[in-house]
This record gives sequence, C-alpha cells and structure tokens, in this order.
Amino acid sequence: MDLTTLERLPLWIGGRAADPTTTRYGEVTNPATGEVIRHVPFANAADVDAAVQAAAKAFPTWRAAPPLRRARVLMRFRELLDTHKKDLARVVTQEHGKTLVDAEGSLTRGLEVVEFAAGIPHLLKGEYSDAVGTDVDSYSLRQPLGVCVGITPFNFPAMVPMWMFPLAIACGNTFVLKPSERDPTLSLRLAELLQEAGLPDGVFNVVHGDKEAVDALLRHPLVRAVSFVGSTPIARYIYETGAANGKRVQALGGAKNHAVVMPDADLAFATEAIIGAGYGSAGERCMAISAIVAVGDVADPLITKLAERARRVSVGPGDADDAEMGPVITCAARDRIVGLIDRGVAEGARLVVDGRRPAVSGHDAGFFVGATLFDNVTSDMAIYREEIFGPVLSVVRVPSLTDAVALINANPYANGAAIFTRSGHAARRFQQDVEIGMAGINVPIPVPMAFYSFGGWRNSLFGDLNVHGTDGVRFYTKLKTVTSRWPDDGSAAPGFHMPLMG
Ligand code: NAD
Repeated sequence: MDLTTLERLPLWIGGRAADPTTTRYGEVTNPATGEVIRHVPFANAADVDAAVQAAAKAFPTWRAAPPLRRARVLMRFRELLDTHKKDLARVVTQEHGKTLVDAEGSLTRGLEVVEFAAGIPHLLKGEYSDAVGTDVDSYSLRQPLGVCVGITPFNFPAMVPMWMFPLAIACGNTFVLKPSERDPTLSLRLAELLQEAGLPDGVFNVVHGDKEAVDALLRHPLVRAVSFVGSTPIARYIYETGAANGKRVQALGGAKNHAVVMPDADLAFATEAIIGAGYGSAGERCMAISAIVAVGDVADPLITKLAERARRVSVGPGDADDAEMGPVITCAARDRIVGLIDRGVAEGARLVVDGRRPAVSGHDAGFFVGATLFDNVTSDMAIYREEIFGPVLSVVRVPSLTDAVALINANPYANGAAIFTRSGHAARRFQQDVEIGMAGINVPIPVPMAFYSFGGWRNSLFGDLNVHGTDGVRFYTKLKTVTSRWPDDGSAAPGFHMPLMG
C-alpha cells in the first residue's frame, strides 16, 4: 500500500487497512507549503468499537505466547525500522515539518524503546521466596492487562507512540493507537512494519480521530489502560475521565522547561546547547528549553552570544539540506506564537531577536516562525506563564541559584530543567532541590534513555507511573502474588483464625 498517494487514510483494524464508517474527515497539511496533502477520518464510536473488539479477540492467544516469542517479533520490527528509517523520516517531515535529521533522531529514540522491550523475558521476571512458612512458598507474576490504548500528540508521531506500544505488546497486551490527526500517516506505516515483523493480526490497531474517538476509547468497557501524551488540559481530562471509567491511566501533559545558567558556566558550550534545545524542532518538543534563568552577572554576555547565534538559525522546509529549523505545525499555531510574541512586547519584555516574519523563499504559504529571543522576562508575563510551543526563548534574570530553583519550583509545569555550571556543588544542590521530573547537568534536554522512565511532576504528568523503562513494564502489567503449598498426606486442617505462617 502506498499511503503517500492516498487521499483518504484508512484505519488499521485486525491486521488490515479498514474503511471507517464515519463520514467526518479532517485535513492533513504539509506545514512547509501550507497545502492539504490528504484527508484523515475522524472515527466514530462504531469504528472505535471495531478496533477494540479486534484487539480483545487477539488478546487470549497473544498473552499466551511465550515472552521470548513476543520479543522476537519486536527484534524483527527493530530491524525493519532501521532499514526504513529514511522513508519513515520523510513521512514525519512531510506532515510535521521538522528537519529530516531531527525526524530520524526521533525514530532512533523510538527504536531504543523497541530494543528495551525486546528484553521482556528478563523484565517480566518476578520475585520468589522459598519457605515463607513450613512447606509454603511465595512468588509473584506480572500479567498483561488486556486491551491498552495510546493517544498521542502531533509533535512526535513516531517516538511517542513507540514510548507505549512496544512495551505494551511485549508484556502480552493488545493495543489500539489513536495518533494525532495532524500527522497520522506514520502510524499506518508502523502497523504495516509490525505485521511484516510477524505480529499477529489484531494485536496492534490504529483509529484516527478527535475527541469523539478519544471519548469512545475512554468509555469502552473492554479497554483496560490508557496512555496519553499531549497538552495539560487534555491530559487532566483523560486522567479524570479514564479513571472514572475504571481504566488505569498515565497522562503526560505540557511543559515549560528551564535552563539555569550559572556565572561560572562555559558560555560557548551553554549557548550552543540552549540554541539547539530551544529552537530545534521549532520549539515543538515537550522537553524544549523555553525559559533561560540567567544567574547574577552572566545575563549580559549570555544574551550577546545567544542573540548572535539566534540570528543565524536557518529556517526552511524540513527536507532542505541547510534547514536547522522547519515550520510549526499549523497556521493557527503560527498565529498563536506570533500573538504571544506581540504580548511579550506589550507587557514590557525586551525583544532582542524578532522571528515574527521570517523570509523563506519559495514557501510563502508555509507556517514559519523564526528564532525569537526575549530579555527581561518576568514570571507574571504571558510568554513566561504559557507553554508557547514555538521557537521563542525568554531570559529571566535572577540574583542567585536559590532564586533560580525557587522560580522553577513555583511553575505549574515540571517536566525538565537543566543547569549549566562548572561547579559540582551547584550542580548537586540543583539536582537535590529542583522539583522536576527530569533534570540535566550540562545537558539541555535530559530525556531519559529507554531503560530509564520518562515523566514530569505536577501538571506535566497525571498518574503514578512514567512511560517506558521499568515503570512502563509496571504500567502494562498487573501484579499477582501466589502463595503455594503442596501437602501430600491430606493433613491440612480447616483453620478459622487469621492464617499465620511459620
Ligand atoms: P493535544 O493535547 O492537543 O492533543 C493530544 C491528543 O489528544 C491528540 O491525539 C488529540 O487528537 C487528542 N485531543 C485533542 N483535543 C482533545 C479533546 N478535547 N478531547 C479528547 N482528546 C483530544 O496536544 P498536541 O497539540 O497534539 O501536542 C502538543 C502538546 O503535547 C504540548 O502541550 C506538549 O508539551 C505536549 N507533549 C508532552 C509530552 C510529554 O512527554 N509530557 C511529549 C510530547 C508532547
């Protein structure tokens, strides 16, 4: 199936492309050109039910497959991902806008979760206690939940779904993915590759859509668990609605990530790191740096360096060789970001580099915003309070590390934060005191590797368990503890008191 020429995308149900019953469709746009390139169905409750039923039907056989056999499917899938990385990156770039290099990088981060999940026979090992009582042993099992659901955002159409389904299916669950309606095509390519890798039909399904599809998933009686990544208001809604309907939920929300720059930092290093972390992927990363906290007298020299580099960031279509930064996702996103820059100016921040009208020749209808830098930003301004999700960096000046940490800890979001310093003492104080899910020390985007778990605190994550790593295994399994005795002389007498071991 050549999806790139299809005008209307199908769903993927029970191991094949399926026409939906819905008549509602949305537009998928190439953000570099502004052109509508295909249409995506907005699944209704009947479409969602068909996908969930297919997943439920596949579950008994899949959960019974030995973990090693499940792992081998993932090993083959990993090889296919690697072989097709360049074509997959093109699909991401066409619908999302990020540069090809960045798209490939995000595929690699997803592939790493597949590699981690391929270790599932080891990861599922339980605990065993010999003789917890006379002739009594106790041990634990981790068993799959059933049908699990992933609802994912536009900014990582490959990586974020791969934070979820490799581990979910490795644990023996079946899966329904509801990808973002803005860049939905990659999910279908992943479905095809999983099938080619030998995944049985119905173990992985895709429904496209918006709130209607999401609500049908949240309320479906056969859905056992929901993993969500997206903006904070929707994450909160998913958590509350999913929990009210008896689902296990992990819902990752938005972010406002800070980089603290200490007076002793290597400024050339910090500048390059912050430029990449702030403007890479046009700032549309949940771990993008958004606020720079300049401590003491570092602010002036830091801003000089940042401004000089920000003015040189090359903006263009993601498939252009020299583009460092592509467009943002939609026309509405561009207008929102430009509106926030206007507000920053109106509220008194100093606009050092203005990216509101970048010239991208031959792409007048593309959704481009240039690298933008503000100085003298304060915590009451909209550009500080709101998640901009665009290429805008705001410098907040503070006198000390204590003030920097207090600023970060007072922010409602708590995904990532980084410190740039040469002082081990300052770095350790930061590590201990910052109230945040993921901390970086001279690392601007401290995204944990697949074998650690990813997640924020406060409004950046609703639920108890992070994604991937061992938290992922715990999320996608239920714990069962067995206490066993094998008497062979029929001597067990009925006991009417609390059972005591020993
Ligand atoms: P979004 O919240 O608009 O959409 C996410 C998903 O929710 C999509 O699949 C969408 O179809 C669905 N959705 C949207 N509105 C809904 C509604 N009213 N009811 C039910 N479902 C709905 O997010 P987005 O714009 O696609 O992605 C950007 C956001 O995601 C940013 O806030 C970013 O910080 C966040 N994000 C967070 C992380 C993280 O790890 N914490 C990672 C990536 C992105």
